[in-house]
Amino acid sequence: MIDDGARARLAPRTDEPAILGGPPAFTERLHVGSPNIGDRARLSERMAGILDRRWLTNDGPLVREFEEAIARFVGVRHCVAMASGTAALQIAIRVAGLVDEAVVSPLTFVATAHALRWQGVTPVFCDVDPRTHNLDPASVEDMVTPRTSGIVGVHLWGRPCAIDELTALAERRGLALIFDAAHAFGCSHRGRMIGGYGKAEVLSFHATKFVNTFEGGAIVTDDGDFAEQARLTRNHGFARYDEVKQLGTNAKMSEPAAAMGLTSLEALDDFYVANLRNYEVYRAGLDGIDGIGLIAYDEAEWCNRHYVVIEVDQSATLSRDELQRILWAENVLVRRYFFPGCHRMEPYRSELPCARRELPEAERLTDRLLALPTGTAIDPTRAAAVADLIRRAMADGPRLRRRLRGLVPARADRSKGKS
Ligand SMILES: *Cc1c(COP(=O)(O)O)cnc(C)c1O
Repeated sequence: MIDDGARARLAPRTDEPAILGGPPAFTERLHVGSPNIGDRARLSERMAGILDRRWLTNDGPLVREFEEAIARFVGVRHCVAMASGTAALQIAIRVAGLVDEAVVSPLTFVATAHALRWQGVTPVFCDVDPRTHNLDPASVEDMVTPRTSGIVGVHLWGRPCAIDELTALAERRGLALIFDAAHAFGCSHRGRMIGGYGKAEVLSFHATKFVNTFEGGAIVTDDGDFAEQARLTRNHGFARYDEVKQLGTNAKMSEPAAAMGLTSLEALDDFYVANLRNYEVYRAGLDGIDGIGLIAYDEAEWCNRHYVVIEVDQSATLSRDELQRILWAENVLVRRYFFPGCHRMEPYRSELPCARRELPEAERLTDRLLALPTGTAIDPTRAAAVADLIRRAMADGPRLRRRLRGLVPARADRSKGKS
């Protein structure tokens, strides 16, 4: 339902923006990553089945069904479902044999770097290509040392990283290549679904992702040995009852999680359509605003468009952070994804005091990118109203900027958003 706030915003606005005391544009808060939810009745049926069977976890029938569905969709032989994307990353890093150092992008969710460190591998941050926001293969090669064991590519925003170049580089230098595909479920590269590249790829089904299992993740791969190792590691190293073959942990996906995942997959078309529609509304609504660029997606590929990200460059009348404060006051909780870069978060920041200088493109982007709300919780009317707020703020930029300087830091700086 479209609330009065959203409707009012489509009419010419006479009052002040909320940051200067006017009423907020939205009465409800608009979140980035508000969950996509499939058919409730189907989910309830599946939940009832779980209770009837008294099979709640440990490689249950829904987890197996979910793994098969994901493997089929991605077009790989194996899917090993996990309790989270982070657990899947840790296990993939371990099974891929990464040790000492691995090259990774600093422009990612911190879990990519933390998963390496958790396995005792030092993440070596490398600069990104400003056009794709993904690892720049030339900088990757510069970072390779005798201690480098592998590369962790991230398909940021669901846009494939330089898969072909990184694959060639990994082969040439004898490195393991895995991908953090947490953003990229439902996206393709050269017509093949992401998930099928490298030694293995890692998906996240966190509540905020395109498809969710509340919490969850998976390793997808064509390599049977890799999948087998991942399965053993996921379940304490158990090969069968009473037989532990190796070191392991508990990273199992539960049956309720798989129920949510299967239900989400049935609604996948709706998720694609909602995101495409919102993206097109944003594209039209933001078109021609000086200094605001919307990231582009390859029209020839499958793409979940789950991230609507704008770049606020120096020619804009307001900085990214000023725009964020203005939008938060309107109850539009845009997010500075990903700010700061991983190299500026602990423990890496203390260990790499020079990283900011060495990663100029990542530094520039982390100060400019802003993610806007999309997904099935946002309808085109709301997306249009958000774009309209941005247009008005930018048009009124010089005055807003002067007024903002006289204000104490706004809510955006103080409160923690939902992730
Ligand atoms: C969400 C995310 C993860 C972690 O996945 P979880 O399921 O939340 O543990 C890792 N990498 C990236 C890029 C992500 O966005």
